[in-house]
Amino acid sequence: MHIAIIGAGISGLMTALELAEQGCSVDIFDQQQAGQAASWAGGGILSPMYPWRYAPEVNQLAKYGKSLYQRWNEKLYPITGIDFQIHDTGMLIFDKGDFQVGLEYAEKYHEPMQRCEYLTGDDIQQVNQHISADFEQAIYFPELSNVRNPRLLQSLISYLKQHPSVRFFEYCPIEKLIIKNKKVHGLQAEDGQQYFADQVVLASGAWSQHWVEQIQRNIPVHPVQGQMLLFKTPENWLPTMCMNRVMYLIPRQDGHIVCGSSMSECGFSTAVDQQTQQDILTACLEMIPELEQFPIVKRWAGLRPSSPHGIPYIGAMPEIENLWANFGHFRNGLCMGAGSAQLLRQLILGQETFVNPTAYSPQRLQRLALVTP
Ligand SMILES: Cc1cc2nc3c(=O)[nH]c(=O)nc-3n(C[C@H](O)[C@H](O)[C@H](O)COP(=O)(O)OP(=O)(O)OC[C@H]3O[C@@H](n4cnc5c(N)ncnc54)[C@H](O)[C@@H]3O)c2cc1C
Repeated sequence: MHIAIIGAGISGLMTALELAEQGCSVDIFDQQQAGQAASWAGGGILSPMYPWRYAPEVNQLAKYGKSLYQRWNEKLYPITGIDFQIHDTGMLIFDKGDFQVGLEYAEKYHEPMQRCEYLTGDDIQQVNQHISADFEQAIYFPELSNVRNPRLLQSLISYLKQHPSVRFFEYCPIEKLIIKNKKVHGLQAEDGQQYFADQVVLASGAWSQHWVEQIQRNIPVHPVQGQMLLFKTPENWLPTMCMNRVMYLIPRQDGHIVCGSSMSECGFSTAVDQQTQQDILTACLEMIPELEQFPIVKRWAGLRPSSPHGIPYIGAMPEIENLWANFGHFRNGLCMGAGSAQLLRQLILGQETFVNPTAYSPQRLQRLALVTP
């Protein structure tokens, strides 16, 4: 089976991996360099930030993220030499209003954040001696991890590029789907070049509204900008991830600490601004005042593919044969990425699915209302 995938972020790359490993031949297209959009910009926390605030459908896919990525890392690392570092740091959460609900959630569901403990004073310092003394209470998720997402993408790209049945088409914006008699036959790029395939997957992230007119369905996915900044500290300086008021610090093994994040609707702009950067910095220094002594080495923004309730669209698109969706992962596309791709591969190949696919079905995309002049 020959499959074309539009979008080389985590959703498209993981789908390509799943399908190529099952013997499919895969062409993957991106309008820019592969793996440079939201999936690069994200933080890589392997759980929704406060799972109890999210729909069960989101947590259901997120809970497979860590184990699936671990398996893929074991397989890909010997070939690519790129370790994407699933870093078991645990996380401290300081939002008092979330303590009770967080403890109850962990008790009831265990996944994706697993065990949870309530900590005070000295116990917090034992876990992370850099926390400000102003934070006297926390809930602690000792088993929560983060993945180094830029390396995850590098590893996927490197592996797929050497795969005999995968072809990359970078800097190749796809303008149109070639649809005849309610069946998609392939793609047309902006330069007019056509590419044919048995099946087509839309993995176009925040850009997914592009397909609205052609498929005559409303696609309620739009970009929500998130800004980040990056500290460089000594190796393993910060022992845990930390979160307060939806602002977080994510330590990498080599001492980089990713700090974020903001939420702003400003179209497709990825410009950073001083005020937002200052807000992130203030929130992070409130938790870890000692960070002030270390340099900020990078600032950036990415575009989350927002969707209603953050529940992605995964599965067969309505009414058009051979067209599939894997988009709309909003704030959790990295932790849901491995599970989403596995589910889509199972659906495309007619295999038994590991979760019930109904809640993710693109059949819920509403038909466009006819506009009469
Ligand atoms: C600041 C920030 C922090 C985040 N933190 C986390 C986190 O800690 N954990 C987590 O799970 N998630 C996190 N996320 C969310 C996560 O990054 C996204 O949900 C996820 O990356 C979406 O992946 P994607 O592959 O669908 O989209 P993208 O990575 O954006 O990829 C889509 C690709 O499609 C291409 N494309 C679009 N249209 C076309 C076209 N017509 N032709 C060709 N190519 C096209 C684009 O160029 C792009 O490369 C964060 C996001 C941001 C911005």
